[in-house]
Amino acid sequence: MSRNAESTAFRSALEVVRGVEPRVADAIAAELADQRESLKLIASENYASPATLLAMGNWFSDKYAEGTVGRRFYAGCQNVDTVEALAAEHARELFGASHAYVQPHSGIDANLVAFWAILADRVESPALRKAQARQVNDLTEADWFALRRELGNQRMLGMSLDAGGHLTHGFRPNISGKMFDQRSYGTDPATGLIDYDRVAEAAREFKPLILVAGYSAYPRKVNFRIMREIADSVGATFMVDMAHFAGLVAGKVFTGDFDPVPHAHIVTTTTHKSLRGPRGGMVLCGPELADQVDRGCPMVLGGPLPHVMAAKAVALAEARRPDFADYAQRIVDNAQALADGLLRRGATLVTGGTDNHLVLIDVSGYGLTGRQAEQALLDSGIVTNRNSVPQDPNGAWYTSGIRIGTPALTTRGLGATEMDATAELIHTVLSQTTPGTGPDGAPSKAKYVLDPAVAESVGKQAADLLTPFPLYPAVDLT
Ligand SMILES: *Cc1c(COP(=O)(O)O)cnc(C)c1O
Repeated sequence: MSRNAESTAFRSALEVVRGVEPRVADAIAAELADQRESLKLIASENYASPATLLAMGNWFSDKYAEGTVGRRFYAGCQNVDTVEALAAEHARELFGASHAYVQPHSGIDANLVAFWAILADRVESPALRKAQARQVNDLTEADWFALRRELGNQRMLGMSLDAGGHLTHGFRPNISGKMFDQRSYGTDPATGLIDYDRVAEAAREFKPLILVAGYSAYPRKVNFRIMREIADSVGATFMVDMAHFAGLVAGKVFTGDFDPVPHAHIVTTTTHKSLRGPRGGMVLCGPELADQVDRGCPMVLGGPLPHVMAAKAVALAEARRPDFADYAQRIVDNAQALADGLLRRGATLVTGGTDNHLVLIDVSGYGLTGRQAEQALLDSGIVTNRNSVPQDPNGAWYTSGIRIGTPALTTRGLGATEMDATAELIHTVLSQTTPGTGPDGAPSKAKYVLDPAVAESVGKQAADLLTPFPLYPAVDLT
């Protein structure tokens, strides 16, 4: 394929859009320019390949395909069947899973599918069995009442939000926290690491139906073999949400005890984070849960997005190539170089380092809140996000942490030297920023003071770091 093909494709697409609503075409072009210019350290973001992006912009978007491959509620789905089957096959081969369900529209939706599958499989409810056996007309009002009562209030044990767990693992702002009776396990205050003995103790006391592992802000590996043993010891279903680190599993950086697929009953993920595919979700499981998982649409999902499934097939095919394993290893090498660079300059890191794609800086060491640090970095051309640290004194809004991740910059090609330079820039901004005061002179958790000359100089250096690593080098929109 000629490099020219990519430019031509995107340029032509924009020309067509411009003919209808030029402001949308301009915004799309501006987004590329912004992404090219920013030092993107958001741990959950990446840059999908042109092939992945282009596979999404077509008439598959027009098709309804409720149901699963070969069992659709709509006619004329043969081409959707082709791409869905391909995406599922690539996913099974890539992760060594016996079943893959590639319809979820996002990570949250993948978790809802998994929760439904586990409830439907595990909850002892005669009414539910009748409903599942398609004897819905035999159910009385009393049966339906019993079904709702039996499905509700089931127990879930997941990682606490401030230790790095995710909202969907049973926390109040999410539906999972309203459906489930939830308890959480945290990390050891001294080391910041998961204490498996404490998880086992919590499981013994609480007897959850579902034990969830997975995180969005924990900078270490999780031993899934031990977690499965804990789940088995209390009869829980073990679910792993690998949304953040799926790319490291795909690239065989996480193997053995650290690969969730052989250990979990069910694994969910996003496809757009370290896995570098289109925005979407996916569920992997063994044969026991496969039928329930395949009921995801229309049980909890709307019609699948066939254009996104096409893009998932492309991205998963890319992830099966040997160079993806190199990419995954470089993500971790870069995160470690970044962590080392920060530590050497005196930063405090949660758990003292990283063995995955992310680093969590405790910015209270710089006298700042996460909110102040995030904004000061943004003023200096460095895009990160604030995040709670364990037992965060500043709560979930202001926070005391900055989460940074390397999947995106690694895709651009930056390496250890640039990571050390990035650590220097981050340290410079954080050490030169001071907390501001509110209108009444009281200390503020949001306001801060940073000399604009420092922000400008760091911004310039950040831009210089990116110059040798152009984003989408083959795409020229001019
Ligand atoms: C990002 C994330 C999700 C949610 O993904 P969406 O695609 O935004 O719905 C779920 N679980 C974890 C652990 C995540 O990090």
